[in-house]
Amino acid sequence: MNKNTKILLSEREMPRQWYNIVADMPNKPSPPLDPATRKPISPEALAAVFPMELIRQEMSAERYIDIPDEVLSLYKTFRPSPMHRALNLEKALGTKSRIYYKYEGGNYSGSHKANTAIAQAYYNKKEGIRRITTETGAGQWGSAMSFACNHFGLELLVFMVNVSFQQKPGRKIMMNTYNAKVVPSPSTMTAVGRQILEKYPDSPGSLGIAISEAMEIAVQDPYTKYSLGSVLNHVSLHQTIIGQEALLQMEKTGDYPDVIIGCFGGGSNFSGISFPFIRENIVNGKKTRFVAVEPSSCPKLTKGRFMYDFGDSAGMTPLLPMYTLGHNFIPEKIHAGGLRYHGAGVLVSQLLKDGFVEAKAKMQRECFEAGVFFARNEGILPAPESNYAIAAALDEARQADIEGTSRVILFNLSGHGHMDVTSYERFFADNLPDHEMTQEEVDKFIAGTGLQD
Ligand SMILES: *Cc1c(COP(=O)(O)O)cnc(C)c1O
Repeated sequence: MNKNTKILLSEREMPRQWYNIVADMPNKPSPPLDPATRKPISPEALAAVFPMELIRQEMSAERYIDIPDEVLSLYKTFRPSPMHRALNLEKALGTKSRIYYKYEGGNYSGSHKANTAIAQAYYNKKEGIRRITTETGAGQWGSAMSFACNHFGLELLVFMVNVSFQQKPGRKIMMNTYNAKVVPSPSTMTAVGRQILEKYPDSPGSLGIAISEAMEIAVQDPYTKYSLGSVLNHVSLHQTIIGQEALLQMEKTGDYPDVIIGCFGGGSNFSGISFPFIRENIVNGKKTRFVAVEPSSCPKLTKGRFMYDFGDSAGMTPLLPMYTLGHNFIPEKIHAGGLRYHGAGVLVSQLLKDGFVEAKAKMQRECFEAGVFFARNEGILPAPESNYAIAAALDEARQADIEGTSRVILFNLSGHGHMDVTSYERFFADNLPDHEMTQEEVDKFIAGTGLQD
């Protein structure tokens, strides 16, 4: 077996296509519905918010989709991303398992979000769009989009969830540096925002609200479109560059993963690393397990309901068939900002329902402990979101040791935490409470949607 702890691909080996798992899913996902008619929505109805090529990808069943040259050339400034064998972590754990991670924090944005930001900005530019509106929670998506838009000559307006806007001024400055305009959400710029502020002047905001605001601005102007950083099929598609590379990198190690792990917000980084390997299960009889890890305070996969729900809080999006906590969900202020979304991507939802993936919820203190342990042994300070994947990877290794076996474990290290050090500070000060949402609370939010069967 290869003893290198850093597994690299050359630029020449970088995959030139994204992988669309719809082509191989035994049960295809149900279509998004028009909320007014409850009929499948037409591509034209989505054209007010998205460029046609992204709509085409959203609805595509084509197995492989070519990555445009303009996107590839920007990918090449930071891809292929490295895979590491976590030898020092293994030693510290005293485990017989072999732990690998794919590191997506090494690009300008510090997370995997750059993979889709570049593609989305490119397709908008190509269709003559001048301005994009979007939301951001913790700020990674806004940062990823800011640079991508500036690169392709587009303006960007970012609605940043108010609690993050207050907690993470560094992210706002970063977005401004990349030439984007950032407003705290809820804002007075939109009818949705004004309505919420009237009722709840101290609203901490939510991703659902920020999405509603960004969409409201986009639909008013033919040269402005809206862009989403997770959840949608085309976003997961763009992230499959991660798993496509990881397949080639695992091949170089001589190992093959028994289990693949990703933290879960809307599902894009988990989809990105998993989908090409799920194809190996479906088509080539591999037996890898796939574990999505969410916070106990936002447990849509483990306690939510599979049903048609809106992607935003005001009900402006089509109805999507997904695991959800209800679009009216307001999350607790836990620090893994990127994991606070109420819904799960449609593709992952269907795969979870059909038993291709597993889901697990974790408390935040255990995850920060795992993140600190990882940082001290591997030298990378992880994003708070990524800590959920790390904690689950440690569980897998410990469980194998208890069983007297070993596992090949691969997890996605979705980003670095350099902009999130204050949450580590709070962890060290013992000031980071655990919070678990009860089934009763979840059911209340779901009843509040008025959409359950
Ligand atoms: C946004 C984000 C996540 C969660 O989003 P997914 O779409 O579920 O991947 C996880 N990790 C990092 C570093 C992020 O920025």
